Formats: sequence, structure tokens, C-alpha cells
Amino acid sequence: MDKCYRCEEPGTSAEHVPPKCLFPTRADIPEKDYRINLITVPSCDLHNTAKSMDDEFLMVSLAGIIGNNSIGYLHKFGKVERALRRRSYKLLDKVILNKQIVHRIPTNNGFLEVLWGTPDIKRLHNCLQNIAYALHFYHFKSKFKGTVKSHFGYLHYSKGNSATWNEFITKRAEIDLKGKSYIGSNPDVFKYMVSDTDKFGLYIIKLCFYGGLSVYVVFIPEGKTVPENPAMQFLNAGIPAVITLHDEKFHFEPKHQSSE
Ligand SMILES: [Zn+2]
Repeated sequence: MDKCYRCEEPGTSAEHVPPKCLFPTRADIPEKDYRINLITVPSCDLHNTAKSMDDEFLMVSLAGIIGNNSIGYLHKFGKVERALRRRSYKLLDKVILNKQIVHRIPTNNGFLEVLWGTPDIKRLHNCLQNIAYALHFYHFKSKFKGTVKSHFGYLHYSKGNSATWNEFITKRAEIDLKGKSYIGSNPDVFKYMVSDTDKFGLYIIKLCFYGGLSVYVVFIPEGKTVPENPAMQFLNAGIPAVITLHDEKFHFEPKHQSSE
């Protein structure tokens, strides 16, 4: 029996990467099959996230976000809505902390309800970390040893350094991924691309959900370190910093002057 994608235990089940519930069924969208050649990896009981509530959490977190393609929306109003209703919308309190207002955005066929609040980033990072390890196992046929850092290109930061940092990381990752092609049998739901290894031994996998939600995962293998960023040293010393990336300039303000 194959070993688990994450540890040395025997794999007792096949874990879907990403979770199967993100892919609409024929019952939800009869026109097309969105469950072709789903990616699976061997998993032990401990590391099979389907046994935790994380799969459902991720589905509710990702589907129906502004920027998604129509498949994401349809899924949101089908399976996701049913999952929410089943648990009297309590699941939503876990996905979005400090839930504030439900915005109603007019669309061609009625209204689209949008929640505004702070997503449970810590749990999202955890989910994405599992997907990253599993996808690595699938793509490279080897277990990843090291640390991963995930970055959510789709989250909107109000302003200040977080917003600038978000733009900067996204731009930087896109440069590293230039010329690479997406991989995936159900690209409307999920596809990914892998960068080359850079001079520091790091590489990036970009995950794309529902055509519009991008998550960049940086893989830092054991024994490798992320290069020290000189701009961060300036910021820590209270000096504003500008990072230039190709033709674009990113301005960062030290914390005490920042408008965050
Ligand atoms: Zn395991």
C-alpha cells in the first residue's frame, strides 16, 4: 500500500486535491461534467481532511466570491447554499469572522448577496497548506519536506502596507510564472501552474479556483531560506521603503505612519 502524502503511515484512503465538494455534480450543473480525472493522493486517517470539516469550510470560503466565473456562482447557489442552510448558516460564522453587512449587488437576474467581513485567514492557510503538500506529492511524485507559505491574491485589503504588499507579491509571483501553462482536467473549477526553482531553491505553485481566485504557494525546502528583504529592514527601522519590480514602484510606510 502507498504511504500517506504527508507522513510515514500507510495511505488508507484517497484524498481529493482540492476537496471533491468544490467540484459541482451533474445534479447541480447538468450541462457539463466538472468531475473529470479528479486528482487524488493516498492519505492516512489523520491527514484526510474530508474527515475534518475543512472541506466544507473551504467550499464555503471560495465559492461565490466576487471575481469567480459562472461555475463558482452556480455552485454557490446550489451545493454551498444547501450546506449553509443545513446548518442554519452557522458555518458562515466560521468562515467569516466579524461578519458585518450583507451587501446586495444588483445583477441581471436579481440580486447577489455579498458578505463583508474578515475571513478566517488562519484556517484558510491551514486548508491551503494541506492542498499544497498534496498537490506537490501528486505533481512531483515526492513528499515535500520544508515549509510552505500561501498568499491569497484574491483577498481585498482595505489600504496601507497590506494592500501594497498584496500587489507586490502577486506581481512578483506572476513574473516567476511567466510562460508556464495551467494544468488540470476541470479548469473552470480548479487549475494550477508550477514555476521553475529560483536561485535560492524556492518555487511557487499558483492555484486558481473558479477561474478567478488565485492563491500563490511558495515552497521553501528544508535547508533553504527566504532571502532577507532589505526593504523590510528599513520599515522595521521606521524608514519608508520603495521596492521596484521591473517598471513598477511599490511604496511601503513604516507602521506608525501607516494609515492601517
Ligand atoms: Zn498521514
